[in-house]
Parts: sequence; structure tokens; C-alpha cells
Amino acid sequence: AKTNSRGSHKLFNAELSQVMSSRARLLLDLKLALDHNQLTVVYQPQFCVQENRMTGVEVLVRWHHPERGMIPPSDFIPLAEQHGLICGITDFVMRTALHELIEAGLLYRDIQRVSFNVSAADFNGNESCDRFIANLSELPGDWSVIELELTESAALLNLEGVKQVLSVLNKRGVQVSLDDFGTGYSSLNTLRLLPIQEVKIDQSFVKDIVQNKQDAKLVRTILAMAKALHLRVVAEGVETHAQANYLINAGCEELQGFLYARPMEIDHLITFIGNLNQQ
Ligand code: C2E
Ligand code: CA
Ligand code: CA
Ligand code: CA
Repeated sequence: AKTNSRGSHKLFNAELSQVMSSRARLLLDLKLALDHNQLTVVYQPQFCVQENRMTGVEVLVRWHHPERGMIPPSDFIPLAEQHGLICGITDFVMRTALHELIEAGLLYRDIQRVSFNVSAADFNGNESCDRFIANLSELPGDWSVIELELTESAALLNLEGVKQVLSVLNKRGVQVSLDDFGTGYSSLNTLRLLPIQEVKIDQSFVKDIVQNKQDAKLVRTILAMAKALHLRVVAEGVETHAQANYLINAGCEELQGFLYARPMEIDHLITFIGNLNQQ
């Protein structure tokens, strides 16, 4: 029995260390990725369907690993958050996207709003404010062209820090969007405590909106609440015409999802907007 238990103990340790080393390996690779141009950004357009126009783009990070190919952000963003790498990623994403969009002549013309995803760790102390301000310093115009998307769980992890930085940026025009709205524990409290101009209805609500009466009612309630509070609403993860029609009929003004456009690189975005303008 002794050898048996020690044997299984060993096995457990071996498995654990395998898991740990693959995480440690990924972390090491991620540190290198920033310096070796393996990270890029893509843009997913958002639309006001009623007015038939593009309202803005959400910027999403991509990691092209030299051996493993594309690694999705859900695999490395949490790791980056845990190990103090997120600020470097946020700075890279903001600077790269603004540089590309300005260079392409799209910002303030075809694109009136650029949304960035930010994490709790992006908001630690006075230097965070300075970082954001430095990242935005190349903007040739109004800062209301910028929006920060923050999940409620991120906000609650660091409420005081988030509040402090967002209020400074918000006064200078930067917009704030509450991401994955409705999936957290205290969405209403977050709305009450932070300066927020937009909510994004999470894709989990959109997914079954046509079949599931409960989800449909929740979405209608979010829309009514947002209207009363003068918040913009974006529905994300719209994949079918049935979902889009339902959302439009319910009064949702902005839609984002594969039905309209997938996240795309800057060259493709330029072509995409060119085609829109020709229609
Ligand atoms: P998110 O902010 O909720 O972003 C929306 C995700 O849904 C994106 O996945 C997007 O590609 C995907 N999506 C868009 N339309 C559809 C659709 O119609 N159907 C489906 N099934 N999915 C759709 P992605 O790019 O893999 O990003 C996943 C998450 O990683 C993001 O969720 C965000 O939380 C995080 N993330 C991505 N880029 C960044 C970044 O630059 N910084 C930080 N901190 N987080 C990021
Ligand atoms: Ca937005
Ligand atoms: Ca987002
Ligand atoms: Ca989301």
C-alpha cells in the first residue's frame, strides 16, 4: 500500500509539474513575444444598423507564436494579468492600433470610436493615469474617440484604483464601456460607482435570444434600464439575422458580431471600409 500511495503521489507530482512547466513556458514565451513582434492587433467593426453606418471598432490582441501558431487571448490574457505583463500588452495594443488607424487616415473620419479592453491591473496608482495619457498623446483630436472596455469583475477587483483613473480620463473625454454586462454579481452597483457611458450586452444573452424567453426578457430589461440611464448599448456576438432582427426590434442601436464582420487586420479593415463607402 505504501509504495502504491507513494507511486500515485509521484504521478500526481509529475502531472502537476508538467502543467506548471507548460504554464511557465507560456509565460516565458509571452515575455519574449512583446519584444519580438509576435503580438498584433485586429479590429472588429460595430454598426448602427438602423442608420446603416459603422459606429466604431473594438481592438483585440493576437499572438502569433512561432511554433504553436495562433494563441487565443483567453489563453494568455489571464496569465499576463497574474504576472504583471498586462500593462505592457495594453500599452502595445493602444499605441499600435492608434498608430495604424491614424496612418491609414481612418480615425475621426470613418472611425468615430476605438474601444480597447483593459484589465484591473491596468489601474494601479498614479502612474496608470500617466501611462494612459502617454498612450493617447499622439491623438490629433478629441479624446472622446477613445473608449475603454472594462468587465465588471475587473472593476470590482480594484474599484478604488479604477475609479480614480477613470474619472480623470473621463473628464478628458475618454468613454467607458461596461463589458460582458449582466454576467457579474453586481452590475447595477458597478454602474452606480463608476463613470460609465455604455454597456455591452454579453454574447451569452444574445446566443439564445430568439428561443429563450427568459434571455429575451433580460435583454429587454437591460435595454429599458440603459435608456432610462442614458447609456449606449452594444450587443455583442450577433451571428444570425434572427438575433439581429430581435435586437433591433427591441431597440438595441449598436450591434457587433460575425454576422457583420469578423475581427480583421488593418489592411483588411481599410478595404472593408472602402467597400462600405462605395455602397
Ligand atoms: P471580449 O472583450 O468579450 O471580446 C469579444 C470576443 O468575442 C472576441 O474574442 C471576439 O473575436 C469574439 N466575437 C466577436 N463577434 C463574435 C461572434 O459573433 N460570435 C462569437 N462566438 N464570438 C465573437 P477574442 O478576440 O478571442 O477575445 C477574447 C477575450 O480576450 C475578449 O473578450 C477580452 O476579454 C480579451 N481580450 C482580447 N484582446 C484584449 C486586449 O487587448 N486586452 C485585454 N486586456 N483583453 C483582451
Ligand atoms: Ca462602444
Ligand atoms: Ca470587449
Ligand atoms: Ca464581452
